[in-house]
Amino acid sequence: MIIKKIMTIKIQVFNPKIYKEDIKSVINSLKKNQISGTQNKIIENFENNFAKFVKSKYAISTSSGTTALHLCINALNLKKGSEVIVSSCTNIATALAIYHNNLIPVPIDSDAENWNIKLELIEKNITKKTKAIIVVHFLGNPVDMNKVMKIAKKYKLYVIEDAAEAHGAKINKRLVGSIAHMGCFSFYSNKIITCGEGGAITTNNKKLYKKIRLLKNLAFSKKRFIHYQAGFNFRLSSIQAAMVNSQLKKINSIIKLKIKIANLYKNFLICNKGVEFQKQINNSLHVHWMFGIKLNRNYPTSANKLIQILKKNGIETRTFFFSIRNQPCLKEIIKKKTPSTPVSDDLWKNGLYLPSTHHIKKKNIKKICDIINNPIKYT
Ligand SMILES: *Cc1c(COP(=O)(O)O)cnc(C)c1O
Repeated sequence: MIIKKIMTIKIQVFNPKIYKEDIKSVINSLKKNQISGTQNKIIENFENNFAKFVKSKYAISTSSGTTALHLCINALNLKKGSEVIVSSCTNIATALAIYHNNLIPVPIDSDAENWNIKLELIEKNITKKTKAIIVVHFLGNPVDMNKVMKIAKKYKLYVIEDAAEAHGAKINKRLVGSIAHMGCFSFYSNKIITCGEGGAITTNNKKLYKKIRLLKNLAFSKKRFIHYQAGFNFRLSSIQAAMVNSQLKKINSIIKLKIKIANLYKNFLICNKGVEFQKQINNSLHVHWMFGIKLNRNYPTSANKLIQILKKNGIETRTFFFSIRNQPCLKEIIKKKTPSTPVSDDLWKNGLYLPSTHHIKKKNIKKICDIINNPIKYT
């Protein structure tokens, strides 16, 4: 009997790569009986290595990127109702860190060229109540931190870098996450390096470091079980720390692959007048966590239609983020007079990520681009 094999390709938008060294490292933590998230050699070792990687004085591991952001804002002790400026095109986690600390997010529209926060709009939205800014290095593309820090200095604001998508990205030779008062990273399964769930905070400020460490671990004091501050359990377990520490050893080669993938996509799509790429600023290293494109008026179908066509051909994609300005769950607290975010709205409507697993095959990238370049043929 001849069974006809149907050759359908299935390409996921991202597939985590777990190396045999990662498995060894995890088994080792189990064998050593080091599994919890209370400070031990494995966690210390990872935090030291991560601080070194980011070229930051301190690193603190956390249970996720979301809890890292939450801790950073919480450590600032801002008065209830203070305003925090934030990129509008971001994961909801960035805005929830503000919301859950009883503060008001002030989302700022994206730049049409680089898709990061539009720097020219920041100052216009600063009020007496503004106390901090969170900028997101979207898709691994660094924000011009010099400009952000200048504004922050002028108005005495704290700055947090949401580098959840940007491990290893650089601006003027400095690593993102080491430039502002604090930086946040995520090790969720689809991030540049991973341990399933996890995160980290980097800072050069000793006071903030001590405070965050305390808050992260239920704010235990010298007299055990007497707590002077209301802390959190946002600890990363040693099992996870063991895995991400092992992944960290490969990060430079992973980033190289990410950049290679982005260049291949660009080469195959460059002649398509309907497809736009994210631009980067001078003297920056974009690490291309995910390769994103935006369709414009010259493209023959809508983004939604293209997503459907790709899906029909076995290719999974994802839209960009929905603007924080319009999030239903934040409707009650975002001030009515907060300006709209047309560029972020356009990115939501017309933008998509293409498969960016670091070991994706060149022939698959070519195939994906062939579909994007001839959507009607593949309908
Ligand atoms: C993934 C992500 C987060 C959240 O990180 P988790 O580890 O999933 O909690 C926050 N901000 C941005 C920009 C992200 O991409």
